[in-house]
Amino acid sequence: MKKLPLHWKIVIGMVLGILFGIVVSNFSWGREFVSDWIAPFGTIFIRLLKLIAIPLIFTSLVKGISDLKEISKFRNIGVRTIILYISTTVIAIVVGFLLVNTLKPGVGISQETIDLLTATYAGDASITSNIEKAEQQDSGPLTFLIDLVPENIFIAFGNNSLMLQVIFFSIIFGISMLLIDPGSAQPVAKLITGLNEIVLKMVDLFMQIAPFAVFALLAQIVVSSDNIEILQRLLFYGATVVLGLILILCFYLLVVYFYTGKSPRWFIQGIAPAQLLAFSTSSSAATLPVTMERVTDHLGVDNEVSSFVLPVGATVNMDGTSLYQAVAAVFIAQALHFPLDFLDQLTIILTALLASIGAAAVPGAGMIMLVIVLESIGFPADKLAIGLALIFAIDRPLDMCRTVINITGDAMVSVVVAKSLGKLHPTNQILNPKSQT
Ligand code: ASP
Repeated sequence: MKKLPLHWKIVIGMVLGILFGIVVSNFSWGREFVSDWIAPFGTIFIRLLKLIAIPLIFTSLVKGISDLKEISKFRNIGVRTIILYISTTVIAIVVGFLLVNTLKPGVGISQETIDLLTATYAGDASITSNIEKAEQQDSGPLTFLIDLVPENIFIAFGNNSLMLQVIFFSIIFGISMLLIDPGSAQPVAKLITGLNEIVLKMVDLFMQIAPFAVFALLAQIVVSSDNIEILQRLLFYGATVVLGLILILCFYLLVVYFYTGKSPRWFIQGIAPAQLLAFSTSSSAATLPVTMERVTDHLGVDNEVSSFVLPVGATVNMDGTSLYQAVAAVFIAQALHFPLDFLDQLTIILTALLASIGAAAVPGAGMIMLVIVLESIGFPADKLAIGLALIFAIDRPLDMCRTVINITGDAMVSVVVAKSLGKLHPTNQILNPKSQT
């Protein structure tokens, strides 16, 4: 067991968690037993990962930038990253769009199913709160720029949902270190390097319990999932999203293969533990520490690149989420007979792009932003709850899948940017790999 690679241990944990969940669901005490005695271990693990997300972003970003020596290098990384993030997101939306318009999963859905789903979920507290949250997000066109700048760095550091503000502060901090006298910057650089190594070691330690944690997470998901009959009615819609996600994954593998010459197997093996965690936690933010460790230590991306590309990607680059939003918006329109003209379709592409950038890297965020996409095409407000009710039952499993693609997209862009700058190291020659996993 000791020799088994980490990703296999996690897979075993997941499979056992699912089986355990299925078995105990048959007992009247099963659900309560899992929530009281098993689920807390999954929650503790997610907390541990979130606990180190902010320190990790700060130390690795400052270290990455201050190691660059010249600001122009940072500009190179930044511009390439942003261009790739926007292009891959647009590609994902277009793929989703083509699929949902070709397969038309919403057209075949019966009125009886719509009534059943509406009766079951339209009044659900989480749907109402999703609509309310989306309304709070609806603000001026430049609000996102204002939100980027923290007023008080301790407040930003104290709130995981303000990660972009921490990134902003860390970038300015790192750049300022480059601009001052190297003698004065050096003690700070040494401290940050030490802190960075300590935080990475913490990731390593936490990953030792990952197989047990995913057992707990998956068992909890299984016992709290909706009945199979309802899920089956949404199968065609779910399959459309999953097919789109698979196509995007293939696209990533092709890009990596053609641009770096590295095999799909190399890429998947390197990133697999992070993908499995993304699947189990449905949160790119919680997965970030592991994504960073895998991309740096196992895919050979230099820390100068990964320290910027990955934290930014976790919050702004969500290809899986954007594809899902395009499919879900059109699916809802098809099912509720809301006609979409060419301009509406273009609006969906644009708002899904912005909505995926604005979505927080936490479970269910994509569905909140979907409200904004639907509102942008003039979807009637009184039908919003019905629209969300249609996709609610299957949202968690789809969230798990789209989060995998979200973090894989970030990893792919890191590899490509690193290669373009000569910063992709051969994986058997990585200096100082910090992990034994
Ligand atoms: N759960 C996703 C993530 O963290 C966001 C979403 O699509 O809901 O990447």
